[in-house]
Amino acid sequence: MLKVEGLNAGYGSVNILWDISFTLEDGEIVAVLGSNGAGKTTMVRAVTGMLKPSSGSVVFNGEELAKKNSRVILNKGIVQVPEGRQLFTDMTVLENLQMGAFNKETKAHFQENLKKAYEWFPKLEERAKQAAGTLSGGEQQMVAVARAIIGEPRLLILDEPSLGLAPNIVDDILKVASTLARNDGLSVLLVEQDITKALASADRGYVIENGHIALEGTAKELQANEHVKKAYLGI
Ligand code: ATP
Repeated sequence: MLKVEGLNAGYGSVNILWDISFTLEDGEIVAVLGSNGAGKTTMVRAVTGMLKPSSGSVVFNGEELAKKNSRVILNKGIVQVPEGRQLFTDMTVLENLQMGAFNKETKAHFQENLKKAYEWFPKLEERAKQAAGTLSGGEQQMVAVARAIIGEPRLLILDEPSLGLAPNIVDDILKVASTLARNDGLSVLLVEQDITKALASADRGYVIENGHIALEGTAKELQANEHVKKAYLGI
């Protein structure tokens, strides 16, 4: 469903991504792994149209999106949970969730999807009228994930969901993503520095180093890879 080929992108005259290629099928969870500054977020921005790639192609369900703007890409069903969540902190949880229903279709399905969101994350129903900025980090991440899913994505991009969160909250979030992938065919691109957690949930993964794809394989292959073990898992 998603085929990225030969993607080059950067900021001004500085190139950050070099010839990045990867694929993602329906219902698949693919991890994008790498350390600080490797280029993971830049890659997400190039796929979602927040950053215009200098060359390369991003084909989603047979349609070229590389030169399209972010609104068009969002409407095609590529929805991201950005690093740092980017909630409207003065607005309530419910108002933040309403922002996830961004077009006619998702507005029409909002009540139904809100009910599901409250089933995944019961805490959010208890906190519905509370300002999002007063929630704990974990609860805020749940709002960000629920808001994205209310947008009825076909591809959900999670950018560093584990950042600064307790392991059990990250597990809850990854469990929801896995359930949606298995049951509804949602594709998930899981961008993570926490390689152990990411490979425990993912089907396949790509390792980015200095803006290049250094390694790719199934989660099992990457877990057993000597370079991954030494450089990222400390074993
Ligand atoms: P992290 O896990 O820390 O978010 P990352 O793998 O997502 O790291 P990026 O945020 O994509 O890495 O950053 C890759 C490189 O691009 C870094 O060298 C960073 O300094 C640079 N960079 C990121 N954003 C910008 C920007 N707006 N302008 C210029 N350079 C940038």
